[in-house]
Amino acid sequence: MNFVEVIARKRDGSELSAEDIQTFVRGAASGQLPDEQLAAMLMAVCIRGASRAETQGLVEAMRDSGALWKTGESFPDAVDKHSTGGVGDTVSLVFAPLVAACSVPVVMMAGAGLGHTQGTLDKLAAIPGFRTAGSRAEAFDRLARCGAFFAAQSQEIAPADRKLYLLRDVTATVPSLPLIVASIMSKKLAVGARHLVLDVKCGSGAFCKTLDEARALAEALVAVGEGAGVAVAAMITDMSQPLGDRLGCANEVRAAVEVLGGGGDARLRQLSVELATDALAASGRPRAAALAEIERRLADGSALARYGDIVRAHGGDPDVARLPRPRRTVPVSAPCDGFVAAVEAEVLGWIAVGLGAGRQRQGDQVDLAAGVKVHVRTGDRVEAGQPLATLEIGERRVDADSLAARTAAAFRIADERPAAVPLVIARLGGAA
Ligand code: URA
Repeated sequence: MNFVEVIARKRDGSELSAEDIQTFVRGAASGQLPDEQLAAMLMAVCIRGASRAETQGLVEAMRDSGALWKTGESFPDAVDKHSTGGVGDTVSLVFAPLVAACSVPVVMMAGAGLGHTQGTLDKLAAIPGFRTAGSRAEAFDRLARCGAFFAAQSQEIAPADRKLYLLRDVTATVPSLPLIVASIMSKKLAVGARHLVLDVKCGSGAFCKTLDEARALAEALVAVGEGAGVAVAAMITDMSQPLGDRLGCANEVRAAVEVLGGGGDARLRQLSVELATDALAASGRPRAAALAEIERRLADGSALARYGDIVRAHGGDPDVARLPRPRRTVPVSAPCDGFVAAVEAEVLGWIAVGLGAGRQRQGDQVDLAAGVKVHVRTGDRVEAGQPLATLEIGERRVDADSLAARTAAAFRIADERPAAVPLVIARLGGAA
């Protein structure tokens, strides 16, 4: 089959056949289709969308592009967690040790940065020595030893997502409901946990800008999961401003460790606790008891201790003093008095990418020290000259003046305090 004809059919709005989808996914996983044809097909799907049958076909073909780990057969209580991608969203690094410290095994098939969002795999790379589990045997060994594993798509598992994920990151083809559903659910089903907790982001910093889009994505993710026998609890959460107060790889590891130590950013803590509660509820605990246990683990040091165990089990050094540090910082201040009316999360995410915390081309080296510190929140009162953010510059040569000007423009200052947006906007599925 000439794959150019398949791309042309999708470009012109026809539905792909099961055979077309197999050719696309097998070609991505095996390397037989060239990047330009894969990227053209991704853009065609991004623009044209996909039917329910095409989306389901993509999920299944991508799931079956590699091994099926069937984690639920060996660890029936194990829970997996995934976010659809946000800014300052380092919940996974809090969730895994916190939930594991409550005796619920955690499996994490994580991803690298996508578009303007920073990914868990890149953050883990900031931890000296950390190696994600490369095979089922390694993953299960870590799960048995410390109650959690972090793994990545590989030639063994979800190889089609591995290839397509890297291409989507640099071809503006991330914000597509069928591609997000196929990417997330193919690797979740390949790992095969029986419980899944999903955080569907909504707002200016998310791939779904409106509540209708986020709801459609959440419903599609839940439907695919439940269709495959997985119990899925999904939350739609606010991404109209960064979740935590730090962006960038080493920065977000530090932010997670602070929460695990009982302090840290309030919004990051709140969402981590909400998602951890869903995970414990999925394993059969009443929500009130689950919440009490989670708070206890954060207060008594056991969540932080479990972070150390998990990092060491993956070959890493949990000492935060050893995380990469920026070479210099550039403050960005408020131009006038007023209320912070908006903190444009997507703009800040792209600024972090510009500093080197994400990739602009396939194969780019991420600057683990680069990032942004955000000092104010939507609704805060500020005075002229007060710091709004700090750019943290690592090894990459950057145009700091232009990035600082763009950062200042990401903060809208107004005379009126804006209406507050709840962090958890809606819930779908899950245990009562
Ligand atoms: N996370 C993924 O794994 N894939 C996406 O497409 C978006 C978020």
